[in-house]
Amino acid sequence: MQSKTQIIGITTTVPSEILYAANFIPVDLNNIFIANENPDKFVEKAEIIGFPGNSCAWIKGIFSAVKSENIKTVIAPVWGDCSNTHALCEVLKTYGINIIEFAYPYDYSLQKLKLEMNFLFDKFNINEKSVFEWKKKLDIIRKKLKTLDKMTVDGKISGKDNHLWLVNSSDFYGNPEKFDNELDEFLKTNDNINKYDDFKRIGVMGVPSIWSNFYDILEENKAHVVYNEVQFEFSMIKSIETDFYNQYINYTYPYGMDFRLKEIIKQMKERDIQGLIHYTQCFCFRQIEDILVKNNINIPVLTLEGDKPGEVDARTKMRIENFMDII
Ligand code: SF4
Repeated sequence: MQSKTQIIGITTTVPSEILYAANFIPVDLNNIFIANENPDKFVEKAEIIGFPGNSCAWIKGIFSAVKSENIKTVIAPVWGDCSNTHALCEVLKTYGINIIEFAYPYDYSLQKLKLEMNFLFDKFNINEKSVFEWKKKLDIIRKKLKTLDKMTVDGKISGKDNHLWLVNSSDFYGNPEKFDNELDEFLKTNDNINKYDDFKRIGVMGVPSIWSNFYDILEENKAHVVYNEVQFEFSMIKSIETDFYNQYINYTYPYGMDFRLKEIIKQMKERDIQGLIHYTQCFCFRQIEDILVKNNINIPVLTLEGDKPGEVDARTKMRIENFMDII
């Protein structure tokens, strides 16, 4: 069993209960990349070693994050995250990185998911009981995130803060206690009156945006984001009352768009959303799924495409302005 605490890089949400039970400190490589003051340098460095210009910037950022943080072990879902993860892992292996592969089942079968989880239990020499105990601990924080999400819907918290808190719950900063304390502080100081009465209620679906000022531009255009789809899924707040295994079956992001859309439509109704923005990433296979979004959503949908880290470009700003005018 791994006894000494060791950092483990994650490429997306993986069961943090397992990593904490195995005495790892999970570090979400996406957050390391995008929170850096020069994320464009991460992309550039990956291109210098040979990543193609026409490949996803998040993948290049993840690669450089592993190198910049000197991470030795990465756990990566080879199914249910990103089609580029396979190639990324192959390259990382050549740099001596230990890759632990894991797969969310394509058909969201509970039985297959249990096998995958049990593979990780064996790999890390931990038992179910310790994982369930970690679920209880993390669920205490998730309950607070649920409050934060509700406050966003009620117009007391911005869509940007909602995004930041929920996206960071993929690894709880690698330090759940610190995350919990900071969240308490944030909730105490942000229980304000409704700040968004005259704003339109917007949902944002798709992978988190790579733009630094996306939410600021939305607010400038009187759009209050009351639903951040993927970030909401990362947070697992809808599965607080669910058992550990079903939590990762209810988690829609690794599964097909048809499965995700059922949850998106449910949340859109509950949150009374007037318009939906589908954020897509340049060179991402998920862009194809926009066809299914357009065919199944019956409120106005605006599809945007981001490429590299930086601010929202002028054309996209204009498209956001126009969209807000029509809804
Ligand atoms: S944006 Fe798409 S291609 Fe890029 S890392 Fe995410 S899933 Fe993969």
